[in-house]
Amino acid sequence: MEKKKLLGMTLCDLKAVATEVGLPAFAAKQIMQWLYNKRVRSIDEMTNLSLKSRAILAEHYTIGCVPPSDVQQSIDGTAKYLFPTENGQQVECVFIPDGDRATLCVSCQAGCRMGCRFCMTGRQGFGGNLSTADILNQVYSVPGNEQLTNIVFMGQGEPMDNLDAVLKATELLTNPDGWAWSPKRITVSTVGVRKGVERFLLESNCHLAVSLHNPFPEERLAMMPAEKAYGLEELMTLLKRQDWSHQRRLSFEYIVFGGLNDSERHAKELVRLLAPIECRVNLIRFHQIPDTPYKGATEEKMVWLRDYLTKHGVTTTIRASRGQDIYAACGLLHAKTNTAI
Ligand code: SF4
Repeated sequence: MEKKKLLGMTLCDLKAVATEVGLPAFAAKQIMQWLYNKRVRSIDEMTNLSLKSRAILAEHYTIGCVPPSDVQQSIDGTAKYLFPTENGQQVECVFIPDGDRATLCVSCQAGCRMGCRFCMTGRQGFGGNLSTADILNQVYSVPGNEQLTNIVFMGQGEPMDNLDAVLKATELLTNPDGWAWSPKRITVSTVGVRKGVERFLLESNCHLAVSLHNPFPEERLAMMPAEKAYGLEELMTLLKRQDWSHQRRLSFEYIVFGGLNDSERHAKELVRLLAPIECRVNLIRFHQIPDTPYKGATEEKMVWLRDYLTKHGVTTTIRASRGQDIYAACGLLHAKTNTAI
């Protein structure tokens, strides 16, 4: 019989496990601490459980952590790791060291259903949802995880399309008995799946990042088929209703394409759309992918757009590109070893 994984279980789940294998109820909290505070790699390391308890637990359960199957190292220090998933797929996560910060960009699906035309993951198609254990394993098993200061759900997949697993993962990352991270250190991105965003805002305190890329719905639709089902207008109505002046941060991701979304017309519409909301915009350089009409904007245009938006009341930064040489930069994740494209 295949053993079940402890990784991804909440205190409530672990209480049920304790009951099932005949351990006292307080053992659930002990197991939780071994899992998420000490991040042990085997049940045998849970030394405040009796030898007998460990043996009973290990008969039916395993920790469930899996090491990466491949790594590619960028010249800028970024590293891209490939992890196997429960359903036999492979996903990538990217470790981005930056001075005294280190960010992990995690995946939540194998591939993606959203089909953004400028994204390698979108082209890959959909290979299934990741379980909470698959998501957390990227944090648990990535080398150097003790240095992590931030986690962003911006790898492969649309988090709001696998929201149960994502919310359970963020709950375990922020729970005092779990990883005990501040929700301020975690950002979840979305193309704007309104129902998902609505639930996310109710059930999580983590930051939200919206992949905007064009302020005009009809032009956005040409780049992002998801605009049809999850329209910008409806999403903006929801976001405007929310109070963003406190803990939680709202940001908009904007890949700047030459001649497509970098004009004054776009800049003006962005101001109209975003200036009334407490938010920030991250301008992202486009990384060329094959067989696409899209090209990146010039550096001058990037700087002009940043300055225009900032001058008109929208806090805007240009995001530094990392890991481009190993296809780890935004939009390039593709989940193949040696991802030469
Ligand atoms: S950009 Fe994000 S939402 Fe769009 S296809 Fe790629 S992974 Fe999916």
